[in-house]
Formats: sequence, structure tokens, C-alpha cells
Amino acid sequence: MDIEEFRKAGYQAIDRICDYFYSLGDRNVLSKVEPGYLRKALPAQAPEEGENFDKIADDFKDLILPGITHWQHPSFFAYFPTASTPEGILGDLYASSVSNPGFNWICSPACTELEAVVMDWAAKLFGLSDAFLNTSGVGGGVLQTTASESGLTAVVAARARYLTTHPDVPLEKLVLYVTTQTHSLGNKAALILGLQYRTLDVTVDDNYGLRAKSFKQALEEDKAAGKHPFMLIATVGSTSIGAIDHVSEVGEVARQYDLWLHVDAAWAGVVLACPEYRGMCQLEGINTYAHSFCLNFHKWGLVNFDASAMWIRDRKLLTDALDITPTYLRTKEADEGTVIDYRNWQLPLGRRFRSLKVWFVLRSFGLNGFREHIRKGIALSKKFNALVESSPQFEIVTPPSITLTVFRLLPSTDSGVDKSDTEAVNQLNQMYQRRLHAADLFLTQTDVNKMFSIRLVIGSTRTEEEHIQRAFEIMVREIGPTIEEWKK
Ligand code: PLP
Repeated sequence: MDIEEFRKAGYQAIDRICDYFYSLGDRNVLSKVEPGYLRKALPAQAPEEGENFDKIADDFKDLILPGITHWQHPSFFAYFPTASTPEGILGDLYASSVSNPGFNWICSPACTELEAVVMDWAAKLFGLSDAFLNTSGVGGGVLQTTASESGLTAVVAARARYLTTHPDVPLEKLVLYVTTQTHSLGNKAALILGLQYRTLDVTVDDNYGLRAKSFKQALEEDKAAGKHPFMLIATVGSTSIGAIDHVSEVGEVARQYDLWLHVDAAWAGVVLACPEYRGMCQLEGINTYAHSFCLNFHKWGLVNFDASAMWIRDRKLLTDALDITPTYLRTKEADEGTVIDYRNWQLPLGRRFRSLKVWFVLRSFGLNGFREHIRKGIALSKKFNALVESSPQFEIVTPPSITLTVFRLLPSTDSGVDKSDTEAVNQLNQMYQRRLHAADLFLTQTDVNKMFSIRLVIGSTRTEEEHIQRAFEIMVREIGPTIEEWKK
């Protein structure tokens, strides 16, 4: 494809993308294809001769789109949202045009410098302490691919920090602490790095947030058993139910025992943009105690996947763990200490120019536009909660958190369902969820104390009150048929 052909295909692509966005409301959220559909539709090998791009673009429409689950649909309420904004798309497009792996400052000074600036803008938006600013020269912010990678990177740095002061401790004696609410990224990091992890119980009485007492008790037990606690991953807004750890409390314990505190706020962190939610989202604890902190712009934060923002209080702890500089990666500027080389703040070498789309989004929305988006999601979620609470057929399983509602169907006893029989209620709810999916209301599930529960999360820019209302109507409509099916 030459440049003029690209111009034509590019205009056509934007036209088609706009048409796609306009069509979203008329599409199903869930794809209807069967497993293996695409292999059947595609040739067994790539073409020997290049094909016409019109045909390729048509195949995207005809073969790929039918197999897409429409995360950008206004009625997408599963998992957590994944942002897609025009600004984010354009940022990706421009970034692709200057495609470069940006690992050292000299690879493209603008890539590194823009990232350092927008991460400071973002730190200010979310109320983070000046210690996390790149301008501090000590701490700083970096864009990683995902919260999992931010977490893993933090664990690598925490491990290196611990082993520097305890060089004789065998690796397998190091213990990473997570809770039953922590995302599986904690367990995965421990697994990858050959470390022990201990999963701490959190209880309904504490709203499923970790408290100082149980954390301290676990540390004492493990130390007495000859283990070496070195890190806690705390969560603000857990995946399952949106639980929030008591970061100030457990941060103080982490400090007393000299543990690294990483705070994972992958989904909920963007709420910190709104000052009225900073207390609830533990900003003070984060600012006082966290060694590292992560939130995903690419979930609810208006920036297309991927853009996971990670801040570190002491960048040297990252670079000490990750800076390996063979001759071919050395640069004069790095030797002089005048630049950031982001390759030393992350696991891979190459990196995408992600800051461009964050820059576009923050400028086009403005900080107020960003806050408005968050507040709108929370307001819609309150409306949805009121609807669920208005129906005696539903039980809200855990207190609604930000824009996440966890509920289950708990019909009246005259329906024939024994409410005290957890297994029976679970089966009923599994059946109910299948029916919701068949009705194109895609909601994902979780387990709360062995109760099969259903999650509904709001966060798309396109979602309006009518979509919430429609979701609730489907929920109500499917109760009767589910009970009928269950009775058979
Ligand atoms: N942490 C939390 C609290 C999450 O909810 C999720 C995903 O939903 C993750 C981490 C993992 O995010 P990522 O896909 O960016 O690794």
C-alpha cells in the first residue's frame, strides 16, 4: 500500500469506525458465533500474493466484527469497562505513525518526555503527593501495559530491595501478602518469581477490607516460623466486589515491619480525580505509605487499552532492580544522568508511545470533563442500585461499591425456592445468569462466601439512564422463566 492508497483506506477506516459507533446500540453485546467459527472462514495459510485492501477491510466487517463482544456498547456491564474514546483512538493512530520502541530517551525524546509530563499531570489530577511526581527527581510515574505488569514490576523491585538488605535469605523464604480480595495478579507474580504468598482473610464486618490487626498477626506468625515478609499488595476497589483495604492502617503496619506496600487501584483509582471520593479511596494512606501505586486509564479512565499508570515513590528502587545496560544500550545522556530511560522502569525493553493518547484525552476532556465522566458513572450506578433495591426478588450481596453492584436473585419462598439452601440458590442464579446472557444482558459472576453472585458494572461513556433501565427490565423479565425452568 502506498501513501495515497493509505490515505484512501484511512479515510474509509475512520468512516467505517464512525458507522460502527453509530450502530452500537442496535447490535447485541454478545457475539453469537460458535467456537472455531473463524478458522472455518479463513484460508489455512496467508496469501502468496498481496490482496486488495478493500477486500481486507470488508473481511474485518464481515468476519471479525461478528466475533466481537462489544465492550463499547452502551449496555456493556460485564467485568470492568474498557475505555475507547475518539481521542484515545487518534492517539494510538498517531503513535503508530511514528512507531518506535521508545526504550531510551534517545530512541525518541518526545516519547519519554511526554510520558514524564503526562504522568505528572495525572498524579496531580488524582491528588497524589508531590513525592510521586517525575519532577521530584526521586519518585515518578510510568505507563505500563497492564495492572498485572505494574504489580509484577513492583514485586520485582520489592524483592530486590529486600534482598539488598538481607542478602543471605533464600528466595523461597520471602512472603508476599495478598487478601482473598486481591486480584490474581498477586498470586501470579509470586508464582512467576518463585516466592511464597499468603492470602489473608477479610471479613464482611470489615467490608472485606484488610485491617491492621489481622495483617500484623499474620506477620508475627510468619516471622516466628522463620519466614521473611517483604511486601503487601493492598487493593482499592477489588475485582470481585469493589472492596477497599484500610490502606492507612495496613500501611502503618507495613512501615513498622519494613514491607513494601503496593496499592492496586486498577479499576477504582480514577475516582481519585473527584475530591469527594478521595477519603473513601484511601488517598491519604496511599500518599503516606505506598511505595508504588497503580491505576488503569484503560478501564474507566477514557484511554484506550493499554495504559496502566504506575507511580513509584523512589525510582531508584525500580532502576536498581531492572537496569541492565549492555554496551549497545548505553547513551551519553543516560551516562550523564540527565534523562529517564523508561526501559529501566519496566520488564520489557521496547515500549509503545502510550502517553500520546493519555495526553490527547486529558487535553480534550479537560480535568473537569474527566471528573464529569466519573461522576456520571457513579450517578447512574446509584440509580441502578435503587432499582434493584426496589424489588424484593433481589438481594444486594455486598454493599454497592462505586459503580459495581453485586446481587443475586432471591425469590420469595412461594416460588418454591428454599432461600436457606445455598446450593439451590446458587443453581438458580447460574440458570438466571445463563438466561440473562441469552437475552443479551452480559453480566459476569463472582463468589461471595460461596454465594454465586452476579456483578453489574457501569463505566462506558455511552451508557445513559435508558440503558440501565433496560438492563433492569431484562433482569425482571427473566425472573419468572428462570423459576419455571428451575422447577422442571
Ligand atoms: N487489579 C484489579 C483490581 C482489577 O480489577 C484488574 C482487572 O480487572 C486487574 C488488577 C488486572 O488488570 P490488567 O488487565 O490491567 O492486568
